[in-house]
Amino acid sequence: MLKGIGASGGYGIGKAVVIKDCSLDYKSVKYTTPENEKARLRKAVDVFVSETKELIAGLTESAGESEAQILEGHLVMLQDPFMLSQMEENIDSGSVAEAGVDAVCTMFIDMFSGVDDELTRQRASDVKDIRDSLLELLLGVKRVDISAVPKDSILVAKDLTPSMTSRINARNVAAIITEVGGVTSHSAILARAMGIPAVLSLIGATDIISDGDELVVDGFKGRVVQNASSEELEQYRLKYAQFLQEKESLNEYFAKPTVTKSGVTKRVYANIGRPEDVQNVLQCSGEGVGLFRTEFLFMDRDRCPTEDEQFEAYSTVARVMGDREVIIRTLDIGGDKAVDYLNIGKEENPFLGHRAIRYCLDNTELFKTQLKAILRAAQFGNIKIMLPLVTTVDEIKRARTLIDECSNELKNECKRYKRVSVGVMIETPSAALISDLLAKEADFFSIGTNDLTGYIMAVDRGNANVSDLYDAFQPSVLRAIEMTIKNAKSAGIPVGMCGEAAADSRLIPKLVEWGLDEFSVSPSSILQTRKSICSCD
Ligand code: PEP
Ligand code: MG
Repeated sequence: MLKGIGASGGYGIGKAVVIKDCSLDYKSVKYTTPENEKARLRKAVDVFVSETKELIAGLTESAGESEAQILEGHLVMLQDPFMLSQMEENIDSGSVAEAGVDAVCTMFIDMFSGVDDELTRQRASDVKDIRDSLLELLLGVKRVDISAVPKDSILVAKDLTPSMTSRINARNVAAIITEVGGVTSHSAILARAMGIPAVLSLIGATDIISDGDELVVDGFKGRVVQNASSEELEQYRLKYAQFLQEKESLNEYFAKPTVTKSGVTKRVYANIGRPEDVQNVLQCSGEGVGLFRTEFLFMDRDRCPTEDEQFEAYSTVARVMGDREVIIRTLDIGGDKAVDYLNIGKEENPFLGHRAIRYCLDNTELFKTQLKAILRAAQFGNIKIMLPLVTTVDEIKRARTLIDECSNELKNECKRYKRVSVGVMIETPSAALISDLLAKEADFFSIGTNDLTGYIMAVDRGNANVSDLYDAFQPSVLRAIEMTIKNAKSAGIPVGMCGEAAADSRLIPKLVEWGLDEFSVSPSSILQTRKSICSCD
């Protein structure tokens, strides 16, 4: 039995697909002769061309016309005589084939990404794909195509990046196992959004588990059984069936309002990380979006999304949700959410560093681009802005000044927009302790227990060795929550919770008693949370 952190509840039974880190580092490749290097290059190009043609044929049949067009574009680019002759020139001057490919492609990537036009910039990512595919072929490494794994696959990886996760076909993936991350890491958040059981922080998983191993994954307890005996398999099948039955029984809460026994109405919202998750919110009976983590729009790419790209993402969510509230959190990078191109730099203590609202207030161009996109999208629904990691009153005042500036600039640019409410996340001890003062400046609060617990308990939220201390039920964390709710009530502003604790059945009766208005949870926890609230006095 292997043990990690249970980060997305459920059971998965299936075969391991191990995703090894396939480094494309070619430093150790030795130069032979120019002829030989050119022959290696030509062979790699030939294989790339024939594999791509096969892919195109398959996509055209399955009506994936737009993907087929992108791949056709790859072929045209690579068959451009200039590109190949440049690579060969590099080889003639002493580079191995890999270095020739890298140098020429990087030159094109830099050239395309510096251009103001969106279509040209898209070509930079096409060239990146070409470069990586050619390097894979030259180095003889083969990366797993996550989107094409067979049914009942269990993905085993060091970590899952948002772009890897976006390629997952949830119908075929029975569970996810990674070597890093905790309950609140991005892979856990995305796994829960897709309803896939996950065990994270399973140290050495990609070495201990081999491709094709039969695995049983318990996403509640964080356990993985390798090559289980037939009795063990039977036990888990039984638990799985029970789990499905319990899940089924929650359906009676689907169309029910969230009302306590004494008749107080509450709201159960959903947390999302990508615009496409919004469909799932309605399918799971969410009454609103209590937290849209916008940082995922900024991750796994090499430049910030433009105002128009962000506008598209936010307005899509607003339109789907209609009159229902959509709380968009401004960029919360730093800590465990790295975005290389933002050049935050290496920090001794990234969780206490230049992150979230602090970074945004110091990089006003980036912040204002996001604020403008949100204000423009607000015309299509019921959007609110939420500021992360606030620790001082001054931060919200400065953010409000920038929001006003954005409104004025949009007016001058003749772009339509709507004014929105501005709330703050209470996720630092400082914010909880001055919640009476923040309540005078904020339109609403949302308690972020994921960070709040970590900062109050002085515990790294992704460290398995101290995970016992990472508990929102600790008296110190409970006091901070109670104090925040009280201060919001005294100021007459609504207060919600969007940390994982909002779905914790031990905590829900206390939250109801203290008067929490809104509970924002993973879409898969909505019905269970509603059930717990409805059974409170
Ligand atoms: C939190 O800290 O509770 C929260 C909801 O934000 P995140 O998990 O994205 O840090
Ligand atoms: Mg947080």
